[in-house]
Amino acid sequence: MSKTIFQKIIDHEIPADIVFEDDRCLAFRDVSPQAPTHVLVIPKKPIPSVDALGEEDAELLGHLWLVIRQVAEQLELTNGYRVVANCGADAGQEVPHLHFHLLGGRSMTWPPG
Ligand code: 5GP
Repeated sequence: MSKTIFQKIIDHEIPADIVFEDDRCLAFRDVSPQAPTHVLVIPKKPIPSVDALGEEDAELLGHLWLVIRQVAEQLELTNGYRVVANCGADAGQEVPHLHFHLLGGRSMTWPPG
């Protein structure tokens, strides 16, 4: 199976504006930002989507949320932020590698489109 674009970023085969990296995850700026700050936080493990999560991923998920919090602090999103995980066609998921959008730097409306 061919690599996803995010797997190529993990493998440093294509460039990305990386804001955080550790042994389990990567956070980098979205190439098409939908807010002044728009970062994608992804596990290095190739999990296709929320639907594909298993019990064995519980600790990794907890770690990802702590990284999201840390990156939000690092990027000074002191006035709040939104975290989004698109899953499947109806949600408009484009890249089949689990990712959390971290959006901030402007006020947002609800519900999302
Ligand atoms: P999805 O729609 O799957 O939830 O979100 C995928 C996101 O990945 C989109 O916001 C899109 O702009 C971003 N994206 C797609 N290709 C690239 C890329 O090559 N580099 C970066 N940094 N972001 C990408």
